[in-house]
Amino acid sequence: MFCQKTIVSKITYPLFLFRHGRHGTFRHLRRLRKLNFKKSAANEIQARQQRALTDILQYAFDHSSWYHKRFLDAGVKREDLAQESILKSLPIVTREDLRENMEDILSDEIPRHKMLSSKTGGSTMEPLMFYRDGNVLDYRMAFELLLNEEAGWQIGEPWVNFWGHLDDIPSDEVMRKLKYTIANGLSRRMMPYNATFVDDENLAALAKRICNSRPTWMFGYPRAIAAFSRFAVRESIELPPVRGVLVTAEPTTPEDHAAIEKCFGVRALDRYASRELGMVSQECTAHCGLHIMSDNVQVEFIDHAQGQVDSDSIKRIVTTDLHNRAMPLIRYDTDDVASPLPFPREDCGCCFSGMPLMTSVAGRVTDMFLRSDGSWFTGLDVPGMRMAETGWVNQIQYIQTGINELTVRIVRGEKFNDDVLPYLQKEVEDVFLKPVKLNPEFVDKIEKTKSGKFMYSICKVSAEDIQRVTGSPASRASASKLPPPSQ
Ligand SMILES: [Zn+2]
Repeated sequence: MFCQKTIVSKITYPLFLFRHGRHGTFRHLRRLRKLNFKKSAANEIQARQQRALTDILQYAFDHSSWYHKRFLDAGVKREDLAQESILKSLPIVTREDLRENMEDILSDEIPRHKMLSSKTGGSTMEPLMFYRDGNVLDYRMAFELLLNEEAGWQIGEPWVNFWGHLDDIPSDEVMRKLKYTIANGLSRRMMPYNATFVDDENLAALAKRICNSRPTWMFGYPRAIAAFSRFAVRESIELPPVRGVLVTAEPTTPEDHAAIEKCFGVRALDRYASRELGMVSQECTAHCGLHIMSDNVQVEFIDHAQGQVDSDSIKRIVTTDLHNRAMPLIRYDTDDVASPLPFPREDCGCCFSGMPLMTSVAGRVTDMFLRSDGSWFTGLDVPGMRMAETGWVNQIQYIQTGINELTVRIVRGEKFNDDVLPYLQKEVEDVFLKPVKLNPEFVDKIEKTKSGKFMYSICKVSAEDIQRVTGSPASRASASKLPPPSQ
């Protein structure tokens, strides 16, 4: 194992990155490793961020006609952009702004063929095309590797990825599958677990793979990792030790944290990241909050519009990407909510102790859905993202109202047609594994929750029905047909 780790980390993984055009990653990683993120360097960190911020603001002014006009309209001239507090004078950028003005937002200096496009995923519907330049991807990958190291994973070690379906894993052709397996074994060494199917059979198969391959790190949706943890404890499966567990993309309940800790013997760390921005923040190893990666992004916390707030302390997260010149994101409203945290009285002592702190993101609730066999799965696995990309719908929201019964709320897109509902019906049944009664509801707008978050999936199955099919009074948060948390 030691041998394979060394070969992968020193030879084959760098070659893999090179082959995929990500050859700048290790250069950035070496530079990042030399930076001081500790509290003793707080002034240095702030100065570094201010320089990067001025650079990107001036770049946006010079090379994005949309930002140029917006800044001038806000009364901000180019020479003002170097001022420390200038950010607050600039307007907030919404997803709608990006959607409607992308052509003018993109840099006029970087040729389009050198920009790499992608789409947003996650719990927020209305997927959005966005663009990066290659250097930014290298930098973000390096940052991710650095944070993975801090969270317990080292390049070359096997790890489990509890995620939904991963597009880059072939499931059909034998040769393609074989090629993927070899390439993966020599590069990322990822052991994927499809969190769509959280049932005893799949969990048992995963436990077996973990015992054989001895991964050192668990990563992914907290509910899926917690479901596995409860299963392993219940079945008294002796798992090899892990160095860390990292959860992301969903809020983690205290019960899930407890289940994970009981199984793996370590407290899971939380990460906040997105495809638009890369790494935003990661939980301190001393658990005093999530340190904001201020070399990558500038994070602001702003108040909600009146009447939208659950609690005064919860704020909207507005971010400025400090590096992406292809598509500058200046004061971008993420639609996520969290709160800033003060520095602890005593130095937390972790290697990011000089980076500002925030709470975990409270507003990315991806509600779980329940199948008639009693298994739970994340609502993100119900189709919708691909639908919106086709222009068929602008917004879509699923509400599970009963066992095998769903309301689908749709804001029609410009290409909506008669094929949409039959397509949805089939896709929904593919994940529910049963005939589903799908009740369409056409609306003009889907409102956000009180905490300001768009809910893609909402489970309203009655407690009686949950008990009937799961055989236990487990709450939705406990995920899967496993017993409820012991508390
Ligand atoms: Zn810390």
